Parts: sequence; C-alpha cells; structure tokens
Amino acid sequence: MPHYFFLWRKVSLILKSLKSIPIYVQILIAIFIGGFFGYLFPLSTYYTNWFGDLFLRALNMITIPLIICSIVSGVSNIGGSGNLGRLGLKTISFYLLTTLFAILTGLLFVRIFEPGTGVDISLGSSVVELAPASSIGDTLINIVPTNIFGALADGNMLSIIFFAVLFGYFMANIEHKSKKYLSDFIDATLDVIMKITMFIIRFTPLGVFSITAKIISEQVILENDLKILISRLGLYFITVLLGLMVHMFVTLPLIVRFIGKSNPVKHFKNMATPLLTAFSTSSSNATLPISMETVEVNDGVSNKITGFTMPLGATINMDGTALYECVAVVFIAQAYGIDLSIAQQITVVITALLAAIGAAGIPMAGLVMMTVVLNAVGLPLEGIGLILAVDRILDMFRTATNVYGDTCCALVIAKSEGEELLI
Ligand code: ASP
Repeated sequence: MPHYFFLWRKVSLILKSLKSIPIYVQILIAIFIGGFFGYLFPLSTYYTNWFGDLFLRALNMITIPLIICSIVSGVSNIGGSGNLGRLGLKTISFYLLTTLFAILTGLLFVRIFEPGTGVDISLGSSVVELAPASSIGDTLINIVPTNIFGALADGNMLSIIFFAVLFGYFMANIEHKSKKYLSDFIDATLDVIMKITMFIIRFTPLGVFSITAKIISEQVILENDLKILISRLGLYFITVLLGLMVHMFVTLPLIVRFIGKSNPVKHFKNMATPLLTAFSTSSSNATLPISMETVEVNDGVSNKITGFTMPLGATINMDGTALYECVAVVFIAQAYGIDLSIAQQITVVITALLAAIGAAGIPMAGLVMMTVVLNAVGLPLEGIGLILAVDRILDMFRTATNVYGDTCCALVIAKSEGEELLI
C-alpha cells in the first residue's frame, strides 16, 4: 500500500511540475519526442495513433459550432451595414495582397534556384490518383448552399461562412427583443465552446506527440530513402522552405510593424501554441479554435474581429499553400524541360492564388488543388508524382505559415479599427 502511495505522489508531482511549463514548450518537446518515437519504433505508433485521432476529432468537433457562433456574434455586433462592408473589404484585401506577396516570393526563389532543372522525371512516384478539383466558377456558385444542414453535415466551410454572415447581418436588423434573445443565446453558446476549446487545448502536447510520431513513422515505413530524397528533391524542399521563411519572418512582420503598428516579435512569440499546433496537425481548420483563443487572450484582439476574420482566413487565406503551389508548378515545368513564358507565369500566379483560396484547411489539400494550376498552364498531372515524397512534411510548414497569416490579419484589422491591444 505505501508503495502505491509513493508512486502516486511521484506521478502527481511530475504532473504538477509539467503544468508549470508553458504549453508551447510542452508542445515543442512533444514534437521532438514524437518524431524520435516514430523514427525509432515506427510499428509501435499503432498503439499511440488513437490519441492523435481523438485530438483531431475533438478539434474538428468544435470548429463548425465555433465558426457559426463567432461569425454570427461578430457580424451582428459590427452593427451598421457600412461597418460590415468596410471590415469585409479590409479583411479580403489583406488576404489577397498577402497571398500575392507570398506567391511572388515563391516565384522569385524558384527562378533563382531552378530546383527542377536536371531532375530525373522517371523517378517520380506514379501514385497520382487525385480527383480533379472543381472549376473556379463551380466553387463560387457552390458558396450558396441549397441546404444549409447539408453544408453543415459536409463541413462545407465557405457555405457555412456565407450563411453565418447573412444570419448575423439580418439579425442586427430585427426587432430589439428578438435580437437580444438571439444574441444572448449565441454569446452564451460561444462562451461554452471557448471553454470546451480550452479544455481540449490542455491535451495538445499528447495529441501532437501522437500525430508527429504517426507522420514520421509513415515516412519510415514508406522507406522514403532520405539520401535519394535529399539529392532529388532537396533543393525543391529548401526553395519552398526558404520562401515560407521569408514570408513569415520578413513580409508579414513588416506588415505587422508598419501597417499594424505592433511589435512583430512579441506577436510571433504570442502565437507559439497555434503555430506549433498548425505545424503538427497540418490543418488550418483544426487549429482554428486554438488560434482564435490565443489571438484573443495573448494579443487582446476582440472576439468581434477574430470571429469575423479568422474563420474566413482559415478557409480562404493560405499564404503558405499559394507559395508552395507556385514553386511546385514551376519546379515541375523545369523538370520537364518546359520554359514557362511570361504569360504562363502570370497564369501560374493567378491560378495559385485561386487554388489557395479553394484549398480546404485540411492536410494535403494543397496537393489536390495543384491540378488546377497544372491544367491552367498545360503541364502533365503526373508531374505531381515528382513532389509527392516530401509533400507531407512541407504541408506542416505551409500550414504554420497559413495560420500565421490569419493571426497577423486579425491583429492588423483590430488595430485599424482602433482597438486597444496587449502588444
Ligand atoms: N494543410 C493546409 C492547411 O490546412 C492546406 C494545404 O494542404 O496546403 O492549411
């Protein structure tokens, strides 16, 4: 009996001391331990995968109620139609411009490094069975759902956002008593969802450990020979990575500093938890509850702003994905020995922008959207096989960049609306 008592005391002491470590440090440690575990014991991840699945399911479970409540509450609080229009215009302009900057950064690097020149195209994996992405026109039309419950069940984010914005907008214009009743209900629901979010966040280190172990073990099991990968795809990998770094550590901080009039270093530090979560889950959607909570608590941005800008950002603002689409397509063209004309490069820039907007905030969505860009410039879809081997790992970096772009937008818009922030 005393034995168990001492053991229990030890365990609870360890748990207590773990609590004093900041959550982002815990997540960072979890990424490393998970990586080593997946590398050394790839088959044992069979026993740990369930926790990562559970964690992702829990995050996805709250994403849709969170999006609905925060957009309806945000939009109805923004008030007059003039304000909503202004905020919407500022947010969408921010997203389009930063995505464009990201693509141009990618284009610059892929032109300088030419990672595709001389690559042996026969080495590409042939497992390319991607369903063609729907056309841009269809995507736009599908934003208006025929059945909102169908859209909710399918997790069709753009349709859900569209309906929530309409609902919030018209809610602001109904009779005072009904409006108060509805908004009290929605605000209270949002409070509950935020509490559930905070509860789930506590399990992030464990979830991240399990997901990282799984990703690394899959690479080991697939026998992705590191040497071959590095010699064939190393330069491509570095080109994407460098582009993402420049966007994350130069372009966005400059915008935060000079347009958002805030401290970019502090903002970056404040975002450690959502960035590490995005990195390990490779899903902007799954990270959304954590990123909204963190921008509100650490930067002091109001829920009115995060509720409007961030769900929209998780769905349409993908700076990292856009940059990667551009680099990957030019890389494929180089590998096939095709010199893209200026007009074709402009097509790549525009379609990479649209592909990033259309990509869902889930793992590997960018790869599926690659078909849009390849088709637009007449490159063979098999080219995707060339970049497949490193895609899962690159997804981690581009998702972190995507999420960081959303947080910067919320900060800049909040500042431009005259909010008093903590940074
Ligand atoms: N995984 C990315 C995201 O969720 C999308 C992509 O595949 O590029 O943001």
